[in-house]
Amino acid sequence: MKQPPQLSQAQARMAHGALTRDGFLGTDSRNLVEILQDDDGRVRRLGLSHADLAAALQRLTDAALAHLGAPVVIDDRFEVRSVEAMGRMPCPFGHPGLFVKAEVHGRRLDTGETLVWTPLSVHLIGAHGFYQGRGSPYRLDPEQLAGFLGMEGKGPEDVT
Ligand SMILES: [Zn+2]
Repeated sequence: MKQPPQLSQAQARMAHGALTRDGFLGTDSRNLVEILQDDDGRVRRLGLSHADLAAALQRLTDAALAHLGAPVVIDDRFEVRSVEAMGRMPCPFGHPGLFVKAEVHGRRLDTGETLVWTPLSVHLIGAHGFYQGRGSPYRLDPEQLAGFLGMEGKGPEDVT
């Protein structure tokens, strides 16, 4: 599948060792445009938007970062904690601005389900609809993410 040159440039910046040691694509051999289209379809079938998922994840991220590594409980349902690393990193799509290097560890208190993401993950979803490639350490599967956030039942059930 052909993809626009700006996506090919972004894809190059997502490779192992370009911006980060692990990169953003994992073992996914698809072109970036295919990864984006596949996940976009999956989010639509959930009846959600990238903005919905990013907003919910941003709220948890902000709470975790505000508590400087201490666990914080939100809505009696989520426990989140940030693990900070040194420095900041840029968006691989070439946006100006830098994102705090940190991991956020989330756990659902009711189900025990856990999820790990970064502040950049939230931006990549909200601004680019990018959930990272399969096998990437911070890949967030749209269905799993929606389930973790408790948003999976929001969509229409008869979408074909
Ligand atoms: Zn960006």
